[in-house]
Amino acid sequence: MHIPSLIEKKRDGHELASEEIESLISDFTSGEIPEYQMSAWAMAVLFRGMTPAETQHLTEAMMNSGRVLKYPKNSPPKIDKHSTGGVGDKVSLVLAPLLACNEAWVPMISDRGLGITGGTLDKLESIPGFNVHLDEKRALKQLECIGVFVIGQTEDICPADKKLYALRDVTGTVPSQALLVASIMSKKLAENLDRLVLDVKFGSGAFMKTRIEAEQLAAAMTNVGVSMGVKMSHLLSAMDEPLGRAVGNALEVAECVEILQGGGPPDLVKLIVDLAKKVSTTPRKDLEKRLKDGSAWKKFVSLVYAQDGDATALEKITNLHRAPIVKPLLSKSSGRIKKMDAELIGRASVLLGAGRQRAGDAIDFAVGISGIKKIGEHVDLDEPLLFVHARAQQSLDSVLPLLKKAVEIS
Ligand code: URA
Repeated sequence: MHIPSLIEKKRDGHELASEEIESLISDFTSGEIPEYQMSAWAMAVLFRGMTPAETQHLTEAMMNSGRVLKYPKNSPPKIDKHSTGGVGDKVSLVLAPLLACNEAWVPMISDRGLGITGGTLDKLESIPGFNVHLDEKRALKQLECIGVFVIGQTEDICPADKKLYALRDVTGTVPSQALLVASIMSKKLAENLDRLVLDVKFGSGAFMKTRIEAEQLAAAMTNVGVSMGVKMSHLLSAMDEPLGRAVGNALEVAECVEILQGGGPPDLVKLIVDLAKKVSTTPRKDLEKRLKDGSAWKKFVSLVYAQDGDATALEKITNLHRAPIVKPLLSKSSGRIKKMDAELIGRASVLLGAGRQRAGDAIDFAVGISGIKKIGEHVDLDEPLLFVHARAQQSLDSVLPLLKKAVEIS
């Protein structure tokens, strides 16, 4: 294949044939196509877009660059959720054990934090010992025993995405819709699912800033999933304020423990049950019951033990990871919360060390923001709007201006 001609074909807005896309992906994965050519191609895709057929071929080629999970005959339905990511989005930690409570298998391959959006793997790693690097054999055995695993992408799953994502990240080509769809869906399809629910976020703290963009992304992902035989559903959810009341790894695990023990912030509980309902055949009241009666909590404890984690740490996670400085941000007036900007709070949490400023940065599990007031809630003068958990005075000082800007009271 003559790569410059392929790049030119896309640059000039023509549709690539499935064989062209397949060879491009397989030659890039094997190292035959250099990164400068793949970057030029990705930029051409960003500007020209891809037809639904091209997006489908790209997703399949990326999925087939590695292994696709295989299950024993007559095993239960395999179900999962994908979120496009948000601030305080800890849904997977509760949803995975909830869905695995009886009727289904949940083979969840998750991500780390990206920009201001947190990652399931980072949150789980705040639990002492928790191992997100299971090999396929062990992960499948765990599925047979407890119906759920939550792991990171392995070397064998979608290697093309691993390479292409790293390239997109440094060439300004992440926001291409076709590349986003292929990246997300190739990994989910490699899980060989029966049903998948998408949580597509829009708003200040999300990738997609408007509902229309989120709708388009949901439709494109749904098309690909349906044509691969997966029963797809989705929710569009607002990400203008953080989800729940906590942002930061151990703080978010603590919030999940609250939900799994029957409490937790209502907005988060509602979203979890809404998503579960989309992908599960269990009636809503039974899903809610599993959060109240300890069944989902027991499943989560089994998950933590199965992946080498210390489940006795769960109920004291914020003592184990305690930031030296915990300071409230006090309200300067009384009134209703009008704005609690997710993007600014997400940026503050990254600056505190809860996320990465550069790939490979270490995460500080203890830091973040807790007790965040929700839009519409009443506050009195001098009442805490949120609490900042910081490692040092300097980092506290660096985030206060952002956090003050994040809040408006009417
Ligand atoms: N998550 C992914 O897996 N891929 C993307 O391109 C963006 C978010």
